Amino acid sequence: MSKLQNLLEDVKKKNPGEVEFHQAVEEVLTSLEPLVEKEPQYFKTGLIERFCEPERQIMFRVPWFDDEGNARTNRGFRIQFSSALGPYKGGLRFHPSVYLGVVKFLGFEQILKNSLTGLAIGGGKGGSDFDPKGKSDNEIMRFCQSFMTELYRHIGDSVDVPAGDIGVGSREIGYLYGQYKRIRGAFENGVLTGKGLVYGGSLVRKEATGYGLMYFVKEMIEDNGHSLEGKRIVVSGSGNVATYACEKAEQYGAKVVAMSDSNGFIHDEGGISLDTVKQIKEFERGRIKDYLKYHPQASYHAVDSSDKKSIWSIPCDIALPCAVQNEIGMSEAKMIVENGAIALGEGANMPTTNEAVKFLVEKGILLAPAKAANAGGVATSALEMSQNDMRINWTFEEVDQKLNDIMVNIYKSSKEAAKEYGFDKNYVVGANIAGFKRVAQAMLEQGV
Ligand code: GLU
Repeated sequence: MSKLQNLLEDVKKKNPGEVEFHQAVEEVLTSLEPLVEKEPQYFKTGLIERFCEPERQIMFRVPWFDDEGNARTNRGFRIQFSSALGPYKGGLRFHPSVYLGVVKFLGFEQILKNSLTGLAIGGGKGGSDFDPKGKSDNEIMRFCQSFMTELYRHIGDSVDVPAGDIGVGSREIGYLYGQYKRIRGAFENGVLTGKGLVYGGSLVRKEATGYGLMYFVKEMIEDNGHSLEGKRIVVSGSGNVATYACEKAEQYGAKVVAMSDSNGFIHDEGGISLDTVKQIKEFERGRIKDYLKYHPQASYHAVDSSDKKSIWSIPCDIALPCAVQNEIGMSEAKMIVENGAIALGEGANMPTTNEAVKFLVEKGILLAPAKAANAGGVATSALEMSQNDMRINWTFEEVDQKLNDIMVNIYKSSKEAAKEYGFDKNYVVGANIAGFKRVAQAMLEQGV
């Protein structure tokens, strides 16, 4: 067994049952093999072992009242994983699947993602097993207030700067910030990103992850001799990332034919109407199934229907998983390859299992890995922090241009690292190595 594999076994033993965290560490450590072979100094001073251990893990109780007057309790988390490059930075996820293993995998990925942006942000992640689905606005507000009543003591604009993720959008960030401000008695709006525009939010932050994904995918496929014009795209998810990836894809002349949510997917051969999706998701807070009310020509497939049809059975040139982790396993990956796709861009965090990633790369699919391809959200969060620091607002065009430049640079550094270490066109290995090297250098320079 190699040193890195031994280390992986130690990580598994130390963090029992945290399968998503094991998966994320395994994927990264496997990618680092060619690096440590060439440059063994990365093993000195226990650097890689230290890199896999969060600096701080915070778990707390979140009590709140529902609308019927019942006291309810959830669990809150904040993993402050690495501050080598800057204050801990990363979103909060409110979803019933959240537990320590999920938050740690997300925090771990965030270190490398944030490093790839080239900006001064460390890695962290938080959240709760609270399920926002079906909750009233008042319940959401009370939950957010209770969550912040504990979280406030651990964060700060140069300590730890949370933002949104699944289940946490600008409404939740508003309630969280309101409570933070109430407790601190000061308008320290650099403490959170993804804020509303009127109190310190940044233009483009809402669109950033989806737009950034397409900036990366465009660069990648053009560099490999393709174009987005006329391409068929299938996107899982219909939240913020999926919606704005579709918007940018359409602007580039591609056609999105399917989208989903956790209940099922819609398929519209004529091209999905994004205005309708925005209307349903952003204003009605409804389900993707409601699309049929506006476009009866489309079809809907529920996840619990007897044929178990997968969204990945719909042929596409480019697959964009923008929902949750591990939605593409081997059977989905095989469908994607058999249907003749050329590329896959990960909008969600770790949407593809390690086995499926290996298979897709071997089959020559251009794979844009999440920590590189979806870094546009957090990059724009860092731009929001800069604007808050300077107390100025950049225009939409200014932020969008910076975002585009960052994504193109991430593509270039992933590509170059892959090539340098003998894995040409393997952007998965490239992104891991490029992201890791910057963090490792900072860790070495800062001492044990
Ligand atoms: N949750 C997003 C991510 O996975 C954004 C984090 C942030 O803006 O801090 O990168």
